[in-house]
Amino acid sequence: MTLIFLDNDFKYELEAVVKLFFPAELFKLVYGKKPETVIGDYCLFNRVVENATATLTVECSINGKTVCNNKTLKVDSPSYQGDCEVEFGRLLFNILSDLTGKSVGWGILTGVRPVKRVNKMLLEGRTKKEIFTELKDKYLCSQEKCDIAFKTAIAQKNILDTLDDKTFSLYVSIPFCPSRCSYCSFVSQEVEKSLKLIPQYVKNLCLEIQELGKLVEKIELKLDTIYFGGGTPTSIDARYINLIMKSIEDSFDVSNLREYTVEAGRADTITKEKLEVIKNNGATRISINPQTLNNDVLKAIGRRHTSKDFYDKFHMAREMGFDSINTDLIAGLPTDTIESFKNTINSIIDLSPENITVHTLSIKRTSNLNIENNRDVLKNPVCEMVEYATKTLLEKGYLPYYLYKQKNMLDNLENIGWAKRGHESLYNIFIMEEKQTILAVGAGGSTKLVDLKNSKIERVYNYKLPLEYIRRFDIMLERKSEIERFYGFE
Ligand code: SF4
Repeated sequence: MTLIFLDNDFKYELEAVVKLFFPAELFKLVYGKKPETVIGDYCLFNRVVENATATLTVECSINGKTVCNNKTLKVDSPSYQGDCEVEFGRLLFNILSDLTGKSVGWGILTGVRPVKRVNKMLLEGRTKKEIFTELKDKYLCSQEKCDIAFKTAIAQKNILDTLDDKTFSLYVSIPFCPSRCSYCSFVSQEVEKSLKLIPQYVKNLCLEIQELGKLVEKIELKLDTIYFGGGTPTSIDARYINLIMKSIEDSFDVSNLREYTVEAGRADTITKEKLEVIKNNGATRISINPQTLNNDVLKAIGRRHTSKDFYDKFHMAREMGFDSINTDLIAGLPTDTIESFKNTINSIIDLSPENITVHTLSIKRTSNLNIENNRDVLKNPVCEMVEYATKTLLEKGYLPYYLYKQKNMLDNLENIGWAKRGHESLYNIFIMEEKQTILAVGAGGSTKLVDLKNSKIERVYNYKLPLEYIRRFDIMLERKSEIERFYGFE
């Protein structure tokens, strides 16, 4: 498909809207002038300004049928540039909906954090009716998506309202996995290939934790939550997990800690010894992620564990006293069916975990499951799967408490974290709504500095790969001075 941009600035946003309708399409981009002949489907965008009025035009030709529409805007309006973006998106969305007959629930909200928009409107004192009207009329969202976004924002409200600007969360990155799942684009090193890096990685990580501890003491931030993610944190030995957790306890004041999560992740990495270490070091919440309970699907996505392994580890954790467990699931996995997905949802609910996170498969270019070789996944009844999960989880008393979208998700759906009341993960809300500083340690860690009063967010990145992280450790530590500068402690 050819996308033709004549005099306008919205290439990224408009391409994202076209992708909602044509997720597997490769685009040829043309700028400045319409070619004399265009072969095949195209979308053309033009903006002409005359006498302080802009005329926006969108013309789409799909399968030989061409539709053109336009809209005029006043150039002297203070919100002119933002209005152009929205109006271009709406014109395009409406034309493509008509031409393809496809319905897309989130409308032109193609960004990662639709709930953030709802939270902002709530803060402005807008009513539920006003919020729904804006989401539907301006952004073309469906009733169902308005509903889920609103419910999620309400579940977050009390937690966000009590946030203290002088607190932070600590993210600890363990970027190792025993093998790579086919849908994953994460920079995780297979343990087998990188075993020899782990001792040095852990040494550096503990050093980074100690240095960060000193810095945090200087700038007087209080540690609120801790989150171990990856990769799969439990893919390293129990003694290393212990070293890292002890190092945190020694480096930070943990007396105000409200939540401590370790993503145990894959069942094939969990042992009793590791769970004991995690528990004894104070973690209050773990994740054990089956993704699906269908063994054939597990095999198809390259997870080296079975549903039985998941059940065994889940029961083991319960017997050891873990009373806040999350389970991650994915809708739309290769070879999965609606019946098998429903079975997974029902069986997980029977286990009664405190959190259930339902992801929608996202097709990433750098994963083994790229779209070129896996066009069949686009035919998955993923909308039906997500609808079933939403309906069933609501009926069973779970609340949606955080929600985000990723690029290239099947049918432009979303990931939703569900929780039993009182078990909402604070960290997940803070990171998604960008309401609290997250200080990250380890390879791939991304520190996010949040100044709520001045609506300012800055980021400081660690090196991505473990080897790079080890080799350039000193340079990376120097970057931490950005944190002091942000808080005015240079
Ligand atoms: S366990 Fe998670 S991080 Fe590791 S390979 Fe699988 S999807 Fe990627």
